[in-house]
Amino acid sequence: MRGATAAGMGHLVVMDDSPAQLALTTYSRSLWVELLPQLPSSVEYETRGTVWVAADADEMDEVYAKKKTYAAAGVKSVVLDGAELALAEPNLRAGLAGGLLVPDDAVIYPPTAAAFFLQEAIRAGAVLLQGHAAISIGNGSVSLSNGARYVAPHIVVATGTDTRLMPWLKIQPRKGHLLITDRYPGFVHHQLVELGYLKSAHKSMEDSVAFNLQPRQTGQLLIGSSRQFSDDDPAIEDNILGRMLARACEYMPALAHITGIRAWTGFRAATPDKLPLIGPTEDPSVFLAVGFEGLGITNAPGAARLVVDHLLGRTSAINASLYLPARMSSQEMAHV
Ligand SMILES: Cc1cc2nc3c(=O)[nH]c(=O)nc-3n(C[C@H](O)[C@H](O)[C@H](O)COP(=O)(O)OP(=O)(O)OC[C@H]3O[C@@H](n4cnc5c(N)ncnc54)[C@H](O)[C@@H]3O)c2cc1C
Repeated sequence: MRGATAAGMGHLVVMDDSPAQLALTTYSRSLWVELLPQLPSSVEYETRGTVWVAADADEMDEVYAKKKTYAAAGVKSVVLDGAELALAEPNLRAGLAGGLLVPDDAVIYPPTAAAFFLQEAIRAGAVLLQGHAAISIGNGSVSLSNGARYVAPHIVVATGTDTRLMPWLKIQPRKGHLLITDRYPGFVHHQLVELGYLKSAHKSMEDSVAFNLQPRQTGQLLIGSSRQFSDDDPAIEDNILGRMLARACEYMPALAHITGIRAWTGFRAATPDKLPLIGPTEDPSVFLAVGFEGLGITNAPGAARLVVDHLLGRTSAINASLYLPARMSSQEMAHV
């Protein structure tokens, strides 16, 4: 499997960078919960909860602000003081100010989730064609690199960071590093993210790293994360990986004694306004589901539902107009 889905972290997380992001992540997380009875155990869905870790009093102010935003959106969260944080996650460094626990956030293993959805689509009648890229689309047809041409009333483009089919799309690859460790069951209980992550995830151009740690069902720890606008070279960059791990050790000093077994990189599809592009284009046969940056696993079921709503002309459960590709051509959408 190629693409970001094979490289990502699988944190199903409500994020509140903007009202539109909050609406889509909240909706999508609720759809993951609806899907739960159907998901095979290989998806490793675990309701771990997220703890947004506050280092100091200033970050505690952010905790309270975040709690208020979540409460207004009906998202459950609990403020932890320093002692409660230490009790919840004893391997964090001493002296942290506290945090915000979002108990219904979850963790999955994205490659097996993608395989499950693909199998379900095939079961429902979809035909999987592999090995030949689409080289052109439009006016109700798709041409592949082997010369085959398919006619379809609706074409959904979900090509991640690859914009060759639609070069006008303002999508930039945003590189991320991850490292997975050997097995240490019980070392961490929640997905832990420093509140500074929000700054790092939203800084527009600079390279950034943040403490972001996920317990896997296997007992392994998945350590992230970094963000860089760069070319599409997947090589691991020692200085970025080193900075990322140093940041993780600042928050959790015991990580220094843990064995990492593999590191890799992946590319997020970043749009200028940090929202995905979901819905129709000027060509009435072509629909988009691209530009998911660091939330494409979380937002997959919500995005799928919005695409289907567009195809069927149904009203969506959330305001679908916030994600329409038409905003790409609008004035406020600056280039990345
Ligand atoms: C380091 C990292 C950590 C992340 N962590 C999280 C997280 O914790 N939670 C979360 O929600 N999200 C996370 N993400 C983001 C998430 O992984 C992505 O948003 C999501 O996987 C994007 O899925 P996609 O299907 O849009 O793109 P992709 O998974 O990239 O799939 C696009 C596919 O299209 C194919 N393709 C491209 N062009 C063509 C063509 N012309 N013809 C045929 N096929 C084509 C590609 O080969 C690829 O298989 C993370 C991403 C990274 C890199």
